Amino acid sequence: MKASKSAQEKLLALQALDSSLIQLDHKAKTLPVAKLLDEKVIAHATARDLCVAAETEKSDIKHELSKSEVDVEQVVARIEKDEKRLASGLGTPKELEQLQHELTSLAKRRAELEEIELEVMVRVDALDQRIASLGAERDALHLEVTKLAKEKETALEEINLAKNATIKDRESLAKEIEPELLALYEKIRSSADGIGAARLHAGQCQGCHLTINAADLSKISGLPEDEVVRCEECRRILVRVS
Ligand SMILES: [Zn+2]
Repeated sequence: MKASKSAQEKLLALQALDSSLIQLDHKAKTLPVAKLLDEKVIAHATARDLCVAAETEKSDIKHELSKSEVDVEQVVARIEKDEKRLASGLGTPKELEQLQHELTSLAKRRAELEEIELEVMVRVDALDQRIASLGAERDALHLEVTKLAKEKETALEEINLAKNATIKDRESLAKEIEPELLALYEKIRSSADGIGAARLHAGQCQGCHLTINAADLSKISGLPEDEVVRCEECRRILVRVS
């Protein structure tokens, strides 16, 4: 194939723009801020779920606490009633003795219930602390997620602006290249990691980095400058730049 030296050089400029587009796409897909955002979103969801679980647990324990408070109240009421009866001295000695006996076991029962109540209160306190710390963590992560999401959006907008500008440049440059040469370039590019044209520099193909032997090099340099040369190794268009 024949193409003017300037068209071949324009192909290299076009390749630079196409490589920029590939890099911009890669940059958009591998933004460090996006990775960090994903991690923080997961951490936020975890803190939120743990907080909800702790609140549910606390609400269950509060029911337990009300129940044990009622139990204590009932025992206390019974004790007061028995003490009054005992103080009145009414009843047979056997009945009074039974009352004494009952008061002893009620006192024991009251102590047991109060101990349970105390344990429950300690658990509620511990849960309150856990809820407070998880809630603070969740809120801090929420702020971080919001901030990172904005940063990601800004970074993507910048990349898109750069992409759009590059696409525009590419479109006008592509119009200046002969359709036949452009078609060959596109065909190679689609099957060679996005590189259709490479510079021949210091005896090396800059596409596949193969060093071309002296005999082939002298053969290439003997070709007219409008001859389109292909790399023997990677088949890319080799552009001779003086
Ligand atoms: Zn090559």
